Amino acid sequence: MKKVKIIEENCIACGLCESIISDVFVVEEVARVIVDEVTENQIESVQEAIDSCPTDAIEWVE
Ligand code: SF4
Repeated sequence: MKKVKIIEENCIACGLCESIISDVFVVEEVARVIVDEVTENQIESVQEAIDSCPTDAIEWVE
């Protein structure tokens, strides 16, 4: 399992990540990750959110 985080100072709260996978991301003032770990079946969508975020505000935690 993998972890993902938001770099809050980069987030412009556009809502895209939540629209891709609302089980992992919720966007209020900024985006938040609402799970401790990303499950295998969520990885592909989280990667899509990372690749799609307009401000590179989402990262895998190494
Ligand atoms: S896609 Fe990026 S900028 Fe948009 S809400 Fe998610 S983390 Fe923030």
